[in-house]
Amino acid sequence: MTVWDDLVGQDRVTAQLTAAARDAHAYVKAVTGGEEPELAGSSMTHAWLFTGPPGSGGATAARAFAAALQCVSPDLALGGSPGCGFCDGCHTSLVGTHADVEVIRTDLLTIGVKETRELVRRAQLSPAGGRWQVIVMEDADRLTEGAGNVLLKAVEEPAPRTVWLLCAPSTEDALPTIRSRCRHLALRTPPVDAVADVLVRRDGVEPDVARAAAQATQGHIGRARRIATDEATRARRAAVLAIPARLTDVGGCLRAAQELVDAAAADAKQLAEERDEKETEELRAALGGAEGRRLPRGTAGAMKELEDRQKRRATRTQRDALDLALTDLTAFYRDVLARQFGSGVALAGGESAAAIERLAAASRPEQTLRRMEAILACREALDRNVAPLLAVEAMTMALR
Ligand SMILES: [Zn+2]
Repeated sequence: MTVWDDLVGQDRVTAQLTAAARDAHAYVKAVTGGEEPELAGSSMTHAWLFTGPPGSGGATAARAFAAALQCVSPDLALGGSPGCGFCDGCHTSLVGTHADVEVIRTDLLTIGVKETRELVRRAQLSPAGGRWQVIVMEDADRLTEGAGNVLLKAVEEPAPRTVWLLCAPSTEDALPTIRSRCRHLALRTPPVDAVADVLVRRDGVEPDVARAAAQATQGHIGRARRIATDEATRARRAAVLAIPARLTDVGGCLRAAQELVDAAAADAKQLAEERDEKETEELRAALGGAEGRRLPRGTAGAMKELEDRQKRRATRTQRDALDLALTDLTAFYRDVLARQFGSGVALAGGESAAAIERLAAASRPEQTLRRMEAILACREALDRNVAPLLAVEAMTMALR
């Protein structure tokens, strides 16, 4: 087992990161030995941008690289490859407790100037463990322009042992100024077989279930794992895939839209209940407001700030849940289209194969394309903050 094991179907990226980690270790060794080595010209650099379709593992790659940079395996001295997966450096990096690895994962729609400034300040500190100070930013596409400019300075003039690992869906999602200063690593959608293999090996899923889940999600590992292991996720997906057949009249369209939005809202509410209350209690306690007692004066602002944050997070959770449903619907119509063009590819739908066949026979490819466009338009409307129900209703009407 090594730190790269969770990186499925990304041999080229793994090779590149391994080479970088090797050079990084040589650099640290030289510095420790009193030399003044140069990073320029080596495989290692201070700023990296990981891109890839959702689920391809950009964040996983970044975390594996962070671990390899902190690897302290005794085998390194014998020419071993960094990222053993066993040593203290690898282990603590992967579980998120290494003092010099910070993972920024936001559940908000944007990352603002204030938190970025604070992050940049911490990034300038020397690594406590004497190796690298690593900052993994999982949602670099969510940086506001102002925050991007703050980060830009840090990326342009990094502290000697600071490494920025930024993740975004595509290079277009990263601010151009930042993008141009990062070394870019593009992950590909992992092959269905590789995903199925991981589910069997790591999660103990039955081979045929693993294969169906991998195929249904087209290489999105996290989602494939949830479908293969979580009953509620499977049920929700089945409900989404049953929608196309129900869109026969206006009433059916409006009902389906309402259900989609309600399901997403219920998802958001459940997650919020799990997290908000605990957070609020923790903050109350931190502010000195013991149970049942009034909060000290001057702390209302902090409580309000938390409340606002929780509200924005609920918005994002609901949007993510809707987005997932739209992804499943898109896959459904893509299968319909494949059938209409007589392609022999395996259907992603699996359980909805009969519905796919029926719709393929009963409609024309142009109609299917129009329907896929309607889903895309719904996505774009949601991105523009159109009220979810309005956007989804417009979509289901167009899917009729
Ligand atoms: Zn190690």
